Amino acid sequence: MIQHPKGNKARLLLSSVFGPYAQDDEFGSRAINPMELYHNQVTRVQGPFSLRIFHRSWGILFIQANISAPCTVLDFPTRERFAEELRANQYDIVGISSIIVNLGKVREMCRMVREILPKATVVVGGHVAAIPGLDRLIDADHIVKGEGVSWMRQFLGEDATAPIIHPPIASGFGHRIMGLKLPGKTGSTAATIIPSVGCPMGCNFCTTSAFYGGKGKFINFMDTGEEVYRAMEEAERTLGMHAFFMMDENFLLHHKRAMQLLDCMKKGGKVWDLYVFSSANAIRKYQMEQLVEMGISWVWMGLESPHSTYAKLEGEDTLSLTRELQRHGIRVLGSTIVGLEHHTPDNIAAEIDHAVAHGTDFHQFMLYTPLPGTPLHAQLKQEGRLIDVDLADVHGQYKFNWKHPFISRDDSKKFLDLAFWRDFEVNGPSLARIINTTLEGVKRYRDYPDWRVRARFERDAKSLKTYYSGLLWAMEKHMSKKNEEMAERLNSLRKDLREEFGAASAWAARAIGPLMLWLTRREEKRLEKGVTYEPETFVLRSNWQGA
Ligand code: SF4
Repeated sequence: MIQHPKGNKARLLLSSVFGPYAQDDEFGSRAINPMELYHNQVTRVQGPFSLRIFHRSWGILFIQANISAPCTVLDFPTRERFAEELRANQYDIVGISSIIVNLGKVREMCRMVREILPKATVVVGGHVAAIPGLDRLIDADHIVKGEGVSWMRQFLGEDATAPIIHPPIASGFGHRIMGLKLPGKTGSTAATIIPSVGCPMGCNFCTTSAFYGGKGKFINFMDTGEEVYRAMEEAERTLGMHAFFMMDENFLLHHKRAMQLLDCMKKGGKVWDLYVFSSANAIRKYQMEQLVEMGISWVWMGLESPHSTYAKLEGEDTLSLTRELQRHGIRVLGSTIVGLEHHTPDNIAAEIDHAVAHGTDFHQFMLYTPLPGTPLHAQLKQEGRLIDVDLADVHGQYKFNWKHPFISRDDSKKFLDLAFWRDFEVNGPSLARIINTTLEGVKRYRDYPDWRVRARFERDAKSLKTYYSGLLWAMEKHMSKKNEEMAERLNSLRKDLREEFGAASAWAARAIGPLMLWLTRREEKRLEKGVTYEPETFVLRSNWQGA
C-alpha cells in the first residue's frame, strides 16, 4: 500500500464538490437535482409543504474524525471558496468526495488543485469512484473505491484497524417548512449515526450495496448494540439530541445488534427516537412492540413494485405492513421504482396507484436507473441497452439512461411526474400524514407499561397539540381553494387533534395558524418565481494547532 512521504504530518483538505447546486450549469449542476434529499426525490411536488433540509457530507467528516493529521473539512464550498482554501494553506493532500452526477465538478476541482497546489496529492473517493475508467476522465493520483477511513489511515501511515471514532454529526441543517426557516445553526433535532455501510441484500440497482461489496457484503463500523449505544450517548451528550438518524442501509437486518441496543436503552432509561432504513423482510423479524420500545419512529422502506422479484420483498404484503407500522405510530417513507422492465404504458398507472394506495407518510419515486458499479449497469451494458447521456443527468429524477422495452425516454419522465402528483393528490401533504400517524401512536401507547415509550409519545403529543395544530390549520386553509376534498380531510384530522388535546390544540391553531398560512402563501409565490435554496459552506479544522 502506498503511503504519503509525510505520513500523518501531511496537511489534508477534504472537500465536497462545489456549488451552487440547484441550477443548470456547465459543471453538471441541475435545477432538477438540488442538494436537498427530500425535496429532490420525495416531496418535490408538494410546493410550500415540501420538506426542505440539507445534509452534511458524512463520509469526509468520518475520515477527519479518524485520523491524527492536521485536517480541514470544507463542506459545500463555492468554486471560489475552494480556490481560496487551496491558496491559503499549503495542503499536501486534497481529498474530494462526490457522487456520480458530479463528475464534471470533480474534474474541475482536480484541475484547480494542479494549478494552485501542483505538489499536492489528489485523492478522489465516494460513489464517483464507481465510474469505469475514471482515472482517464480526471487528473487524480488515487481513486478510492469503497470505505475511505481505513484507506486514508493507511495512506497516512496510521493503524487502519484501530476502532472507529464516531464524530458527532447533526443530521440536517437549513430546515424550511411551509416557508418558515427554522432558527439555529443546525436547525436539526436528530444526530446521524453510521453503524454500517453497504447492504447484503444486493438489489441489482442499489449503488450503496454495490459500492461496499454487493450481495452478501457489508462493513460494520459497530458490531454490537453496546457500541451503537455508546455512539448515540456521545451524540446525545455533545449535541443535546434525543433523535437519531441511523444512516445504515438496512439497520433492522442486523437483528442481534438491534436487540442488544434495545437492551442498553432499557437499562439506560433512554427515551430516544430512531429513524431507520430497513427492508420489509428485516422489519418482519420484530414484533411491533419491540420496534416501538426501540424508539423506531420512522422507517424508510423499499416497496419497489408488487411484481418485482427482490428477495427483501418475497412473500411480503407491503400494504398491510405499512398500515401496521403506522397504527403503531411509526411513520413510513415508501420507495417505489418507476420504469421496471415489466412496466408498460398500459400497466404503469395501475402500479403507481398501487404505490399510492400504501398511504405512506412520505413516498420516494425513482426511475429504474443503471448506475456504474451496479449489477443492473453491468447487465444492460452487456445487452447493449445503455444510452450515452451526460452523467450529470443520471440521477433517477429525469429520464432513462437506458433503452426500456416498452417506455420511451421522454415518457419515463412523464410517468415519474405522474407518480409524484398522484401521491400528493390522493394522500395530501406529507406533514399532515405524519401528524395522523403520530396521533395514532399517541393514542395507542398512552398506557403502555414501559415508561420510556409513554414518555416518547408524550413528547410527540406536546408537538401535536402546539405547533402541529397550527401547521394543520394553515394547510387546511391553503388547500381549501385547491383541493376541497383534501381540505375536508385536513379539517377532520384537526378535529381529531382537538378531540384529543382540547383547548390547547384549538388555541395553537388560532395563534400559530394565520402566521403559517401567510408564510405558506409567501413561499408558494417565491417558488413560482423559481427561487431555489443552497446550503451554507462549513469549514471544520482538526489537529490544526501549528499546522
Ligand atoms: S435492501 Fe435496500 S439497501 Fe439493501 S440492497 Fe436492496 S435497495 Fe439496497
